[in-house]
Amino acid sequence: MQFRNLPSVDRVMATGAVVALVASHSREWVVDLVREQLDQARQLIRQGGTAPAVDELAEAVCRQLSEVTKIAPRPVINATGVIIHTNLGRAPLSQGSIDAITNAAQGYTDLELDLGSGRRGSRQSHLQSLLRQLTGAEAALAVNNNASALFLGLSALASGKEVIVSRAEAVEIGGGFRIPDVLKQSGATLVDVGTTNRTYARDYQDAITDNTAALLKVHASNFRVEGFTASVETADLVELGRQQGVPVFHDVGSGALLPTEAYGLAHEPTPQESISAGAGLVFFSGDKLLGGPQAGIVVGQRDLVERLERHPLARAVRIDKLSLAALNATLLHFLKQEAPDKVPVWRMIAASPESIKERASRWQSLLDYPAEVIPSRSAIGGGSLPGETLPSWVLALSCQAGSSPEEAMRKLRQAERPVVARVEEDRVLLDPRTVLPEEDDLVLAGLEAAFAG
Ligand SMILES: *Cc1c(COP(=O)(O)O)cnc(C)c1O
Repeated sequence: MQFRNLPSVDRVMATGAVVALVASHSREWVVDLVREQLDQARQLIRQGGTAPAVDELAEAVCRQLSEVTKIAPRPVINATGVIIHTNLGRAPLSQGSIDAITNAAQGYTDLELDLGSGRRGSRQSHLQSLLRQLTGAEAALAVNNNASALFLGLSALASGKEVIVSRAEAVEIGGGFRIPDVLKQSGATLVDVGTTNRTYARDYQDAITDNTAALLKVHASNFRVEGFTASVETADLVELGRQQGVPVFHDVGSGALLPTEAYGLAHEPTPQESISAGAGLVFFSGDKLLGGPQAGIVVGQRDLVERLERHPLARAVRIDKLSLAALNATLLHFLKQEAPDKVPVWRMIAASPESIKERASRWQSLLDYPAEVIPSRSAIGGGSLPGETLPSWVLALSCQAGSSPEEAMRKLRQAERPVVARVEEDRVLLDPRTVLPEEDDLVLAGLEAAFAG
């Protein structure tokens, strides 16, 4: 009977390995882990397995403990060529932003203290002047993320009222964030107008009533409607709203402060052009094309932004001091016109194909395994510029007989510093564009472990 061969909790606890664990971890925690391992062993026995030896159980407990005590999230190398990779934490931060976080974390700050008067200040004041300067808006507010910014805006200004949205823009952004659901949760009523592919100014006009709170424009950031389409420009929508005293809210999504077309990409709507077109409120993310920390930013007319600041939800979606520090530093890079050098997302967008080819060739020359350097494309990702890619070069590796690209990808993910790549036509591809310059040696170590080993 295998169950009888299973050691007791006490016997596993008495092994040398587990006694050593208890010296530096809580005893209750270790006992729990031992029980878990014994439960798993019973499960295996029920399925016809044999009882593990006491040393095997002790070893499994040690392995599990070392797994749960690893720092999380773990740093990984993004060799996918997708610049804003949501599963990999979106935008890597600039050194300036990292330093700002360290400073804010290490000690006390003047977060909500006005050093001049000695009175209570606002955590938003510094940020507001940067954002006003960058976007031309009268006022600004930063919160936890763009989803909460939009939720706050609609709750404060449209609850109990109607919001008019084009049918083409009542979309799901990703991760279960759906514009119709956000509107409903905020207490506003969605009035959708036009059709999936074409919406005209008269569609909005016909839907405006005394109970209309806003005309909402949403950037379809993660998909593209092509062919027979029509939508209304922000400026035309503003003009229409103005005649009826209704503001335009514009969710531009990615927060591109620089013109993407200057880098050979399609035009991504910028907050500043939306403000200059007269939008009442403009919403965007901090960690997409802005290249900063997770945050949601609202810029717009002072009276409207002030109503957001005063709403009780503002406290619930407040930005934390570390993100605020990083956001300020990121915005400063744009004001100092150094973003293409200093902000990683923009440095990656601006990287020339030649410089990328050079890096891929260097990897190839240092690697003890046959590989090719071939032309390819990098993507922006993160729900920005759908389908838009940049010309790039990648290192391409074929697998030896008996192995598969999926197996190689798995080994790469299990490297000391996990490497995430992509597979195309049965080859593993690594795009240097999204690999930080200081990670080159780690990529090579991962490749050696996955392919040469
Ligand atoms: C990404 C996105 C959001 C959600 O932003 P988060 O910062 O992830 O909360 C909302 N609207 C649009 C148009 C987006 O692209």
